[in-house]
Amino acid sequence: MKKERKRFIAGAVCPRCGELDKLFVYHTDGKKFRECVNCDFLEEQRFAPIARELETRVASGEVERIVRIVAPSRDEH
Ligand SMILES: [Zn+2]
Repeated sequence: MKKERKRFIAGAVCPRCGELDKLFVYHTDGKKFRECVNCDFLEEQRFAPIARELETRVASGEVERIVRIVAPSRDEH
């Protein structure tokens, strides 16, 4: 059994409920998902190479900018 790794995205705002620091990402079956703990937002992402980068930089405000690059689809505010 493979354990899924879930990591919170610091500085990321949920596009649905607008809450900060509620999003986490996890990988399963070669896919990457972004999910919110505050609402039922769930989105599949397919940008693995850059995604790995953002997970390692969870401390600075730079993360939010990287998240937008990774997921340009739905980041309206
Ligand atoms: Zn949410």
